[in-house]
Amino acid sequence: MSTIQQNLQDVRNRIAAAARNCERSPEEITLLAVSKTKPVAAIEEAIAAGQHAFGENYVQEGVDKIHYFAGNPELEWHFIGPLQSNKSRLVAENFAWCHTVDRLKIAKRLSEQRPADMPALNVLIQVNISDEQSKSGIQLAELPDLAAGIHGLPNLKLRGLMAIPAPESDFQRQLAVFQQMNQAFLTLKQRYPEIDTLSMGMTDDMAAAISAGSNLVRIGTAIFGARDYGSTAPAQA
Ligand SMILES: *Cc1c(COP(=O)(O)O)cnc(C)c1O
Repeated sequence: MSTIQQNLQDVRNRIAAAARNCERSPEEITLLAVSKTKPVAAIEEAIAAGQHAFGENYVQEGVDKIHYFAGNPELEWHFIGPLQSNKSRLVAENFAWCHTVDRLKIAKRLSEQRPADMPALNVLIQVNISDEQSKSGIQLAELPDLAAGIHGLPNLKLRGLMAIPAPESDFQRQLAVFQQMNQAFLTLKQRYPEIDTLSMGMTDDMAAAISAGSNLVRIGTAIFGARDYGSTAPAQA
């Protein structure tokens, strides 16, 4: 078994253990393999181990990989990086999901640019839940208005919320932040019962995220190893 296949098995086991700890079913939790900066050979190994959902942060790198794997209709590609207006068309034309919608202007562009022959683009609203340094994501107070705006757009399907909390090593403090997200998700779900996705949890905080109700974890390092942001990696989206 290759390292990536072994790592994937380990991550699946960690997800299952975290789910069992809080009496949830592991099947409720989707594993998104975050393949940013990683070569197609690494993705091929993950596919061989049964992985189908992949997350990419850099628009052009992601589109290149989507084109490379276009012959495999089972794969599902999620855009999870910061999105600039001038890159929205590439996301609308290539990805199945966008996790990082944080303003109505970009949501409108994505809807207008989504090709008519593709299903609606699945979108998550990114919430800036704890990371004051980050420019990405809305404040919780802005959520009702943005959700209502997105809900009215024809070629987008609002699926839920996403967050990237500030790094925190203490489990209880991780949990407290993720629980705020889950509360916001449940409140939003009362208004929009069809929403079904709470995207939170990365390599270092997946157990706390699952305890707090995450049903989509975005895991890069634990599957593909540390990322090398040297000269060969794309510098920006
Ligand atoms: C890179 C990244 C991940 C994966 O992080 P790891 O710590 O490597 O698991 C998840 N989500 C987002 C938005 C990312 O940018």
